[in-house]
Amino acid sequence: MSSGFTGSCLCGAVKLESTVTPVLTAHCHCIDCRKSSGSGHCTHMMVPEQAFSVSGDVAFFSRAADSGNIVSRGFCPACGSPLYSTNAGMPGMVFPRASCLDDPEIAKPAIAVYASRAPSWDHIDPALPAVAEMPQGDPQQVIAEKAAN
Ligand SMILES: [Zn+2]
Ligand SMILES: [Zn+2]
Repeated sequence: MSSGFTGSCLCGAVKLESTVTPVLTAHCHCIDCRKSSGSGHCTHMMVPEQAFSVSGDVAFFSRAADSGNIVSRGFCPACGSPLYSTNAGMPGMVFPRASCLDDPEIAKPAIAVYASRAPSWDHIDPALPAVAEMPQGDPQQVIAEKAAN
């Protein structure tokens, strides 16, 4: 059994691979994620850049997040599927979308962020810690604190 994961876009021109399981998986209900998702939120996995590889052409759309950090969202220029993002505020990490996974059960969401922006029809699992906007500080710490309360 491999500890990593593979993924691809809808047309198969782009393939993703990680040699490690995600450090963190989070639902993000921010407006940018909603508009780029096809639904109410994106589900992002976080993996170290050095464990991550991509084959095929990826196009990027870059835009400042609320934090002011530039977020670059990679997608397949042939079929439009979202693939992964980078965040200038979190160098060394990449954020593949759970939608790309060949085995979608690899994603184990641990937190919902920008929960205050979720539309009423995009239900948040009450078992998940939910943060109104972005957690301040280390998200792992926020998850641990919420789980303890
Ligand atoms: Zn494609
Ligand atoms: Zn977002």
